[in-house]
Amino acid sequence: MKEYDIAIIGGGPAGIMAAIAASRTSRVILLEKNSSLGRKLLLTGGGRCNITNDKPIKELLSFFNNKNFLKHSFYSFTNEDLFSLFDFDFITEDDDRVFPEGGKSSDVVEGLTNLLKDVSISYNFEVKSITEDFVINDKLKADKIIIATGGVTYPQTGCSPDNYFLTKQPVTDIKYGLSPLITKNDLSGVAGVTLSDVVISYKKSSVRGNVLFSHVGLTGPGIINLSNEISEVISYNLLDDEPEIDLEIGIDLCPDLNREDLMKKFTDDFQNKGKTMLKNYLKQFLTNSFIEYFLNNINLDGETQLSRINRKKKNRLIENLKRFSFEIVDFNSKLSKITIGGMDLDYINPKTMESTLMPGLFFAGEVLDLHGPTGGYNLKIAFSTGYLAGLSASKK
Ligand SMILES: Cc1cc2nc3c(=O)[nH]c(=O)nc-3n(C[C@H](O)[C@H](O)[C@H](O)COP(=O)(O)OP(=O)(O)OC[C@H]3O[C@@H](n4cnc5c(N)ncnc54)[C@H](O)[C@@H]3O)c2cc1C
Repeated sequence: MKEYDIAIIGGGPAGIMAAIAASRTSRVILLEKNSSLGRKLLLTGGGRCNITNDKPIKELLSFFNNKNFLKHSFYSFTNEDLFSLFDFDFITEDDDRVFPEGGKSSDVVEGLTNLLKDVSISYNFEVKSITEDFVINDKLKADKIIIATGGVTYPQTGCSPDNYFLTKQPVTDIKYGLSPLITKNDLSGVAGVTLSDVVISYKKSSVRGNVLFSHVGLTGPGIINLSNEISEVISYNLLDDEPEIDLEIGIDLCPDLNREDLMKKFTDDFQNKGKTMLKNYLKQFLTNSFIEYFLNNINLDGETQLSRINRKKKNRLIENLKRFSFEIVDFNSKLSKITIGGMDLDYINPKTMESTLMPGLFFAGEVLDLHGPTGGYNLKIAFSTGYLAGLSASKK
């Protein structure tokens, strides 16, 4: 039986980074189920790879579900450390999102793969069993093991819920994250339309961002970020069942004006611009292609002149501009980008990524109960925890 210092399971960004860090001093084998590395990484950022987020670490940490756990890994492996691994530059776009300057995720996968020269890689190797003395699939043995098998979404990239049961490590509820939402409302008339910079809310959670209508529901950064909050509030566990959803979200279409501001403005304008048709007047608040859908839904006629709109209708208009509702009936789970939940952080040392229950067993990346919003935050988790796990395993 072949023996290694460290076996790393999963060749995504977390496993690759762990292998890069560990192979500087240890004999490492990287076991990957697919015939190539980084399948999900290739899909990131629409093929452009939003590799990280460039906010200062202190601010950045506040965007994750467990900043205390991540703190040590973020300071151990910074964005500058990450950039220094590549022989090309990176550009920063709005909201501090960082992309490779060539705009290709394949450059990132290739750049990382080039750093694995000292690592043995076994492709088409699906780990199905790990014994207590670290024998894998009855085929090879390692002194230490790093599990970096990812989450459950986009199974075509290699993820599987079976991985949570490879060891006896406790697992939290597993849920969809960063997911478009399916609505009961018929949106075929507005599919493709974007609402820019609106505030979307569900119960006490609210998110500011863009909303994009699809044929089946709502997507865009604002919606998929809110989906994390919705998923966390609803009780379900993908290891047992699918979520049952019937809830309402509201969109504030004029977040910079409160109800009183709108009432005052409408009262003045409806008097001074009495002959203007409502559908034309609304162009200052709503994107053109959304106005007809909006007015049909609240039973107002766009051809009506402002002077003919009574107080009741004015109130209805204001109420719906401030909270336009959609009925959500499901996550669009096939497009859910990340998994919420994973290996319970209570049993993992944040300074090393090592299990507190099974010495020599380490975890990295999305398999952990860690998640962030869209914008480079989730790859940040994978790279930082991957590096720290690799370094700690090789030092031990
Ligand atoms: C469409 C899409 C776009 C995204 N865009 C971005 C973005 O732009 N920025 C961002 O920050 N995040 C993005 N994400 C999220 C990000 O891709 C993930 O958070 C990240 O890939 C997690 O890295 P990981 O290494 O932990 O897991 P993964 O990337 O899932 O890698 C896990 C690896 O383990 C292998 N594996 C699994 N089980 C076994 C087994 N039993 N034996 C052997 N190998 C196994 C898998 O084949 C896979 O290669 C996106 C996700 C998707 C789906």
